[in-house]
Amino acid sequence: MLRSVSVFERLDGEFEEVVFAHDPPTGLRSIIAIHSTLLGPALGGVRCFPFVSEDAALTDVLRLSRAMTYKASAAGLDLGGGKAVIIGDPRTVKTEALLRAYARFVDGLGGRYITAEDVGTTLADMDVIREETRHVGGSSPSDGGSGDPSEMTAYGVFLAVRGAAREAWGDPSLDGRRVAVQGVGKVGSGRAAHLREAGATVVVADVDAGAVSRALAAGAAASAQPQEILSVECDVLAPCALGAVLDERTIPGIRARIVCGAANNQLARPDDGRMLADRGILYVPDYVANAGGIVNIFEEFHPDGYDADRARVSVERIEQNVQRVFEAARERGVTTAEAADALAEERLRNARGAGVAPSVR
Ligand code: NAD
Repeated sequence: MLRSVSVFERLDGEFEEVVFAHDPPTGLRSIIAIHSTLLGPALGGVRCFPFVSEDAALTDVLRLSRAMTYKASAAGLDLGGGKAVIIGDPRTVKTEALLRAYARFVDGLGGRYITAEDVGTTLADMDVIREETRHVGGSSPSDGGSGDPSEMTAYGVFLAVRGAAREAWGDPSLDGRRVAVQGVGKVGSGRAAHLREAGATVVVADVDAGAVSRALAAGAAASAQPQEILSVECDVLAPCALGAVLDERTIPGIRARIVCGAANNQLARPDDGRMLADRGILYVPDYVANAGGIVNIFEEFHPDGYDADRARVSVERIEQNVQRVFEAARERGVTTAEAADALAEERLRNARGAGVAPSVR
C-alpha cells in the first residue's frame, strides 16, 4: 500500500517556513517557501504559472527556493533563499487586486521573504506590489527599485564566460571566439551584445523567429535551428532559454570547450556534470554565472539606496567567483557543479557554526 507523504516530510528538515496564501475574493492561490534565512532575508522571484496540480506547484516552489539559497550563498551575498508561486495562467488570473492581496501576504512575513520578478510576472507587477509592501526587489527605478534584472544578469554571464576562458585557454579575451546562444530573450540578447563588443562571433537560435531576426539585425553573425544549436561547432555554448537542456542525449553532441549560460537548472541530473567533465567540457555552474540579477536587486537594500554603478562593480565579482569554483574543483578532484555546491554549503555551515541567528527574525 502506498503511504502518503506528509507536508512536513516533504520539507525534509530543510525549509524554515512554507506559507499557503489564499484570498477567495481575488482568487489568489499562492505558496511562499522560505528555504533559509541563515545568511539574510530570503530573496526570490514570484512565478505565476498554470501548474498542473497544487502538488506540482509545491514541488516547484520548494526546489526553486532551495536553489536561491545556493545562488545567494555562492555569490557571497548576505541573503537567504526563498521563492513564491501564484497558481494560474498569468494572462487570466493576474489582476491588480490579486497582486495586492499577494503583496499583503508578503508584507505579513515582516521581511523574512523579499519577492521579485520571475516567469509570468513583470516589472509593472512589482510596481503594484511595491504599493503594498517594501519587501519587493526589482521595481521601477522611479520607485527606488533596480528595475528589470535581465541586463545585469546578461553582464554577469558575460563575465563568467571571461572567467571560463581564462581557465580553459589562459586568457579571458573572447576576441575571435565563436559563441552559440540558445535563446535570445531578455538575457540572451543582452549577453550576445556584450559578446560582440568583446570581438566574439555569435550564432543564435530561438523558437521565436522574431527574436532571431532582432538578434541578426543587432549584429549576430548567423542563426541555427533550435534543435541544432546545442551541437553547433563553437568555443562557448550558452544555454539561455530552458532548464534541463544538458543530458545524456545532448551532451555527447556538444562541440564546445565551455558551457556557460543564463538558464537555471541546465543539468538534467547531477551526474550530467560528470559527463561534461569526462568529455573535457568546462561547465560553469548556472547559478554562479547567472547571479547578476540577484546581486543587482541586493543593492537596493544598501543603506544609501540603489546605485547602478555600485551594482555593476558587485556584479563584476562573478568573474572571480567562477574562478574560485574552478580552483575548488581542481583541488578537490570534483566536477565544477559539485565544487559550487560545496562552496555554497560551506558558507552556510560556517554561518550556522558561528551561531548566526536566522536574520530578520
Ligand atoms: P525570456 O523568456 O526573455 O527568453 C527566453 C528565450 O528563449 C525566448 O526568446 C524564447 O523564445 C526562447 N526559447 C524558449 N524555448 C527555446 C528553445 N527550445 N530553443 C531556443 N530558444 C528557446 O527569458 P530570460 O529572462 O531571457 O531568461 C532566460 C533564462 O535565464 C531562463 O532560464 C531564466 O530562468 C534564466 N534567468 C534569467 C534571469 C533574468 O534576470 N531574467 C536571471 C537568472 C536566470
